[in-house]
Amino acid sequence: MKIIFATGNKNKLHEIVKIMEGDGYDVRTSAMEGIAADPEEDGDTFEENALIKARAVYELSDKRSIIMSDDSGLCIDALGGEPGVHSARFMGHDTSYEIKNNEILKKLKDVPFDKRGARFVCAVAAILPSGKEIVVRETMEGYINDRIAGENGFGYDPIFYLKEFGKTSAEISDISKNLISHRGKALRHMRAVLSEEGL
Ligand code: IMP
Repeated sequence: MKIIFATGNKNKLHEIVKIMEGDGYDVRTSAMEGIAADPEEDGDTFEENALIKARAVYELSDKRSIIMSDDSGLCIDALGGEPGVHSARFMGHDTSYEIKNNEILKKLKDVPFDKRGARFVCAVAAILPSGKEIVVRETMEGYINDRIAGENGFGYDPIFYLKEFGKTSAEISDISKNLISHRGKALRHMRAVLSEEGL
């Protein structure tokens, strides 16, 4: 069975291939399939945005593959859950993460550690050839660190402190992060649901 992942991002492709490999899926990106769908991700939740992307690709597909997509972001308790679904757009798409991360540290500078709770959230949506829609959601729980640390990962990883490691998610290896990350967990969850569906 072919899985078409609604992204042009090669890193996401490698991550999902690693998780799905061995299960007989042929994983491709929508870009590899020549499907150019770039809908506005204007949903209020990660689930809605993942579905918006998946539906746009499903409409342009031959409806014989599983269409999958994800939406993720960082929710910070002390900021009322922001940047949340606006994580990629926070302070503007083209603003560097060094600037975005420093701005968050500044906003939280007087907030004590026990009030700095945060989580990365990932929703993964799938649309089956029958048109049935499935959405799962997983999180990675942590805290906003008091400074930028680490060079692995991307985005907000250098300020996301994982208590169990005593480090930020930019200071642990990609292999360790994939085992505990919101995206890794959501993709494995989806794999289990697809298997229950007999796919
Ligand atoms: P999208 O899911 O591709 O729309 O991107 C969501 C945004 O959330 C990214 O651009 C990052 O800003 C942030 N984000 C999501 N997952 C992670 C992660 O694992 N580490 C750091 N930032 C992340």
